[in-house]
Amino acid sequence: MRALQYRHVGSTPEVVEIDTPEPGPGEVRLRITAAGLCHSDSFIMGLPAEQYIYGLPLTLGHEGAGIVDKLGEGTVGVSVGDSVAVYGPWGCGHCHACAEGNENYCTNAAALGIAPPGLGAPGAMAEYLIVDDPRHLVPLGDLDPVESVSLTDAGVTPYHAIKSSLAKLYPGSTAVVIGAGGLGHVAIQILRAITSATVIALDLDEKKLALATEVGAHQTIVSGPDAVAAIRAATGGVGAQAVFDFVGAQSTLDIAREAVAMDGIIQIVGIGGGILPTGFFSTPFGAAVQAPYWGSRSELIEVLDLARRGAIKVYVERFTLDEGPAAYARLHDGTMSGRGVVVP
Ligand code: NAD
Ligand code: ZN
Ligand code: ZN
Repeated sequence: MRALQYRHVGSTPEVVEIDTPEPGPGEVRLRITAAGLCHSDSFIMGLPAEQYIYGLPLTLGHEGAGIVDKLGEGTVGVSVGDSVAVYGPWGCGHCHACAEGNENYCTNAAALGIAPPGLGAPGAMAEYLIVDDPRHLVPLGDLDPVESVSLTDAGVTPYHAIKSSLAKLYPGSTAVVIGAGGLGHVAIQILRAITSATVIALDLDEKKLALATEVGAHQTIVSGPDAVAAIRAATGGVGAQAVFDFVGAQSTLDIAREAVAMDGIIQIVGIGGGILPTGFFSTPFGAAVQAPYWGSRSELIEVLDLARRGAIKVYVERFTLDEGPAAYARLHDGTMSGRGVVVP
């Protein structure tokens, strides 16, 4: 089969021919219908050798959807021909976190060597994908795989961050979304769908701000030195009850810290490497800071249901597997709008 692989530290990804994998006992083989590109892929491909821990060669793609194609011995719960989305943050299935469906916070995964597809295990940017357990599949039903594949990360990650902030997002509150890219443009829609907060979006790029308005942001602000004053002005000086930072750079964390209201919450989702000093003299009284990772199995089901009733929609640019390397270059340069999706 053909696969898009990251093969050498510092190189660009390549399309290669590799053996089609066979599903082992309890496993499921999918014929991939769509695989999304995430900025985290760019991040790991930018790591120096001493920090790179994902194995080489690595078939990319941690957002996957496919048709169940073959079942390993004893696999039950899905049938050949089912259209499914892949829940990516695989856990052990047995610890307390996994029992709650929060496999993204599995306490055993690291010790057991369990890694998500595309972030250690072979990923979805290929003709076929092996999924370790049918519990990591959610039926898509009538949802279009290309339009919904990114809900497995660009949907469920913001959803998880927003759900953990719901107590702050009361009527009359303000939510700030920093970075209206793949995750951010879905975050704006989730905020509009499940809260009555006023949504302010920040980005550096006018095109991304136009997309933010199109998907429901009440106000947009160019990210930069004047952003905090603009957020304070828009909130009568109070600040935002919740700030979702989908960049996580020092400059955006500084904005988040200065723009959050007393007793508000900052969710650091972007992995831009900034540090947010938290404490009595650096954050407003009562403000909380969280750095969430991905989302739970039930949250993926909920996000797909939001899409099913038309409340959220991923803006997709399609690419073939051969166009994958060029698509990653676009993501790296910041010229991708919405989410890039590879259709093998
Ligand atoms: P993306 O490239 O699609 O979007 C990033 C957006 O941020 C772009 O619109 C860009 O113009 C904007 N931006 C860049 N610098 C900015 C600044 N200084 N101020 C305001 N906006 C700025 O990326 P994505 O795939 O949506 O991922 C967003 C971030 O979330 C990445 O850091 C990614 O690695 C991370 N991520 C984290 C998790 C998690 O579980 N915590 C999951 C998925 C992605
Ligand atoms: Zn991701
Ligand atoms: Zn576990």
